[in-house]
Amino acid sequence: MNIPPDIKMKYSVCPHDCPSTCSLEVEVIGEHTIGRVHGAKLNSYTAGVICAKVARYAERIHHRERLTQALKRKGAKGDGNWQKIRIEDALDEVAERLLKIEATHGADAIWPYYYAGTMGLVMRDGINRLRHAKKYSRMYDTFCVPLPWSGYYAGTGKMQGSDPREMAKSDLIVIWGTNPTHTQINVMTHAIKARKERGARIVCVDVYNTSTMKQADLGLILRPGTDGALACAIMHVLFRDGNADRAYMGKYTDDPAGLEAHLKDKTPQWAAGITGLDVAEIETLAQMIGVTDRAYLRIGYGFARQRNGAANMHAVVSIAAVKGCWQHEGGGAFHTNGAIYHWDKTLIEGLDMVDSSVRWMDQSHIGRVLTGDETALKDGGPVRAILTQNTNPVSVAPEQELVKQGFGREDLFTCVHEQFMTETAALADIVLPATMFLEHDDLYQGGGHQHIMFGPKLIEAPGECRSNHDIVVGLAKRLGAEHPGFELTPRELIDRTLQDSGWGSLDELEKVHWIDVQPEFEKAHFLTGFGHPDGKFRFNPDWKKSFFRPEITNYGDCANMPGFPEHWDVIQKADDAHPFRMATSPARNFLNSTFNETPTSIAKEGRPELFVHPADMAELGLQDGQKVVIGNELGEVRLHAKEFDGVQRGVVIAESIWPNRMFEDSRGINTLVCADVPAPVGGGVYHDIHIWIRPAALNLDS
Ligand code: SF4
Repeated sequence: MNIPPDIKMKYSVCPHDCPSTCSLEVEVIGEHTIGRVHGAKLNSYTAGVICAKVARYAERIHHRERLTQALKRKGAKGDGNWQKIRIEDALDEVAERLLKIEATHGADAIWPYYYAGTMGLVMRDGINRLRHAKKYSRMYDTFCVPLPWSGYYAGTGKMQGSDPREMAKSDLIVIWGTNPTHTQINVMTHAIKARKERGARIVCVDVYNTSTMKQADLGLILRPGTDGALACAIMHVLFRDGNADRAYMGKYTDDPAGLEAHLKDKTPQWAAGITGLDVAEIETLAQMIGVTDRAYLRIGYGFARQRNGAANMHAVVSIAAVKGCWQHEGGGAFHTNGAIYHWDKTLIEGLDMVDSSVRWMDQSHIGRVLTGDETALKDGGPVRAILTQNTNPVSVAPEQELVKQGFGREDLFTCVHEQFMTETAALADIVLPATMFLEHDDLYQGGGHQHIMFGPKLIEAPGECRSNHDIVVGLAKRLGAEHPGFELTPRELIDRTLQDSGWGSLDELEKVHWIDVQPEFEKAHFLTGFGHPDGKFRFNPDWKKSFFRPEITNYGDCANMPGFPEHWDVIQKADDAHPFRMATSPARNFLNSTFNETPTSIAKEGRPELFVHPADMAELGLQDGQKVVIGNELGEVRLHAKEFDGVQRGVVIAESIWPNRMFEDSRGINTLVCADVPAPVGGGVYHDIHIWIRPAALNLDS
């Protein structure tokens, strides 16, 4: 790459909510501008490859619609009538309102609310320091991880797995329930390397023919929420055909005999009836795994966003234990590497100030919380103020009608710290302009790999944009909140956190850009024992004991969860009134609601569409491209039907997340997603939705 002299190449890290956490090389042009963004070639996981939406990040960071000034609401909520104010005045006003609410209604009437708009540890999690210092209501983050993590943890007892770079040394890579060409491109880098260099085969298991599946040697398109049945049948075949590794299981697992007996009737024929797959497809995949020692299961998040998601995840990771492929380089399973980072985040999050008597509320229940649902409020008083960073709940949270009602409350004080005028910001009282990742310092860990990385401030932020840390510190001073973390700059926080965690200093990290903290082979492959006290993989977990967040107890109803791997039939089933099951899978050019403000991403995605099987289209009397209304108990959404034969009959896909304004009546797809509390510990069920479909005109007439 020839770089013109006025462009400096600088290292950074992608901050977005994507397991790849790519190490970046950014073209920096002066103090205010960037050019193209590239993948860091020397990082062994990124390996020079990033997705197109981040490669064109200049379009987002220099977007003319970026928020650059603080805004104060002048008219009714949501009417778009704003007064520009100085950021210091805005912080004064926010603090004044929060102090008044605290004095009148108590500190827990205030709910700081955040998520993964940035994955930097300082800018994402620092809001918790303010929360704990002030004893504001706590938040249990349920959008993403409780279902898949509790399922993986139930089996392995630890959130780690085979080095994802080992995919390049595999003979069979099974990409299960994730679409890396859309959401974490680097999985494909390593899988395709294995194909080129070793003749490895790539298998994809998903609910529709994704762009990843199109690159696979074998694709299995199953019904949403039936992955547990497929996993059971694969293990049945492994036992039946003598491909289960009994010696390995005898040493490393809790009850292989019990599992074998349990799986006796979980035949491919049984699973075919549940999954909608052909028996031959199930047999083929089971045979491929059965004859391959270096079989690597790359297990995603998507398939676990079901009411039975934890049980499904447990069933899938159990395959690796039955086959014993953990023993081999290039074999085993991987979901995320959360457990390999021994962070001490006391300074960042104020963990020394946590008061466990303060209520916590479920992030996914924001609609119920803000509309006064007593259960969601934990029988406490109403939430009267909400401060959001890094999330856009009026687009991404379940039960959108309730969320909108809640944010529309005149007696709710809302402060939104954002980069764009999102749907949530539009309903705020005060909007504060936020920096983007190249405009502040932060520290990152790779969920889908094993690097600790530093992302430095590379350019100046426009206007009065402030980092999350600046806002937290600015409010803390005005609110009388005290903690050593409020006295430090982001660089100091990063340095102290690295040192407190035993990862060296920031100076050292800056010199090398990233630290590879991959555990040694034996530990990553659990050959020194799994994470449970007896070192055994659990085929038969006690779900009450084995979940990954021990402080969250008695939340989901574990009473009827299956022990051994099973198809746990608690998904929201299709019925006469709602004959279709829908998944809201991630679109290639969006990342949750991020990037859905950039013209290129919108142009590439086209418009909100519903992928419908041609036979279902015919039965519904629909033409390709026709506008339809879809709905369920929670509401209705209008979008266009697209004929699509890469899905089973009765299953539809709405790639997401489009801005609400792109739908009629601004009703986005999460209008139809329920905020039930799945076992064992809650979690978002974004792909577990039943709906009806009607031609739009018919519905309008009725
Ligand atoms: S693949 Fe994921 S981590 Fe990498 S640049 Fe794209 S969004 Fe960021």
